[in-house]
Amino acid sequence: MNFIETRGNDGKRSSSVSFSQAILSPMSSFGGIYVPEYLPQLGESFLRSHLSSDYKTLARAVLDAYELDIDAEVIDAALSLYDGFDDPAQPVPVVRVRDDLFVTELYHGPTRAFKDMALQPFGVVLSSLAQARNEQYLILAATSGDTGPATLETFKDRANVRVACLYPDGGTSDVQRLQMVTEDAANLKVIGIHGNFDDAQTALKTLLSSDAFRGTLRERHIHLSAANSVNFGRIIFQQIYHIHSYLELVRQGAVTLGDKVYLNVPSGNFGNALGGYYAMKMGLPVEKILISSNSNNVLTDLIRTGVYDLRDRAVIATSSPAMDILKSSNIERILFDLFGAQRTRELMADLDQKRIYRLKGDELAALQAVFAADYADDSEVETSIRDTFRDTGYLMDPHTATCFKAHASCREKPLPGIVYSTAEWTKFSPTIAHALTGEVDSHDIDALKSIAATANTPIPPMIEALFDKPVVQDTVIDKDDIEREVLAFL
Ligand SMILES: *Cc1c(COP(=O)(O)O)cnc(C)c1O
Repeated sequence: MNFIETRGNDGKRSSSVSFSQAILSPMSSFGGIYVPEYLPQLGESFLRSHLSSDYKTLARAVLDAYELDIDAEVIDAALSLYDGFDDPAQPVPVVRVRDDLFVTELYHGPTRAFKDMALQPFGVVLSSLAQARNEQYLILAATSGDTGPATLETFKDRANVRVACLYPDGGTSDVQRLQMVTEDAANLKVIGIHGNFDDAQTALKTLLSSDAFRGTLRERHIHLSAANSVNFGRIIFQQIYHIHSYLELVRQGAVTLGDKVYLNVPSGNFGNALGGYYAMKMGLPVEKILISSNSNNVLTDLIRTGVYDLRDRAVIATSSPAMDILKSSNIERILFDLFGAQRTRELMADLDQKRIYRLKGDELAALQAVFAADYADDSEVETSIRDTFRDTGYLMDPHTATCFKAHASCREKPLPGIVYSTAEWTKFSPTIAHALTGEVDSHDIDALKSIAATANTPIPPMIEALFDKPVVQDTVIDKDDIEREVLAFL
């Protein structure tokens, strides 16, 4: 299977590339991104034949259907990373919280957030490709808190790949910061920036467009890649758990094979939701995909009105920071799939130049045939956390909690909903402690203890251990000094 470009081909690049090319250099013509030429058709017989498959077997079969140019041993090595999750036999538990509401827990990996689902195997694949080609790669990441730890963790001590990760000093949770600054490996560099996440992201863009920086990389034969969700190497691993979740509902007797369900995804860059969309197109019985947002509700507006409007919008800092995003990159892959390359290029050009695009009536109808959307503000999120814990004993993080409103408001049929839980409660503990006990401004360590006591649940050992680990990455600088710092690291 080859990969093509969402905004069409400029005649300078190959008109289609292999999977390994698409993930090693994910940038494509006209600023577009890569998508598969077509989607494999799995259908009901595939689902039936995997009713008793474990997670890795299912994953292997989905990847096989894509016929990627990756050796079977590399795929196996990549998938074996799921053995490091809490329960190797069940890396992705699906929990019944209410009769019609199931939660797929995507956070049982090493950094306790859903980024591990894709980045853990992705690290093996990218490093193996780099070694096979005898090439050196640099991954630059700017993180608001979850991508950073997961990227560092997956590339730690892996050959032929170095990672420089920028985070806003003071802009992440204590746990997220500790996960980064305690990562000890020669191929990793963590840099705190005076400023917020936008500053970190802008600094990264400035660095990427610096001629001096690019020149130095060329001289030293270092290639740049990316580990964000524009890289299809992440998306490929984010389809599997949607199929797995559905099969779990069948196994648990909640649906009969072939019955439809709702998928309900807390969304930011839309990688998670895109994985659900592709699974649906491959034949998963899905009624609709519910897109849940926080107060940065640009996706809610798009799906309800067909207008993507960034004019007069600034990012609002919420209690679900991984979803504090206005330019949601993977929507572009949906536009491409529904409307083709030419229209996608037109719409994205409007967004770049006018900061707004409008879908036509029939286009909006096509979008609404698949998606529905709602958003929850911080106080609604806390109410969901508190009420759900009180009524069911289930503890969840603020990102997951944004889904509970859409579960109530967006389902037109009484079909079960699968909510995707993207972070463990330990990563955003002050918000949860506030919701459960009313305490304000706690440090993570105190919030963790009070939640553990209230919910009568242990603090996971890897989280508790963070507070005693030595800080080895202590660089915190102004954004003007980043280029020098990254070059020194190289
Ligand atoms: C990254 C992230 C999201 C958003 O996922 P997208 O695939 O970017 O839409 C939601 N919740 C958490 C906790 C995350 O880390």
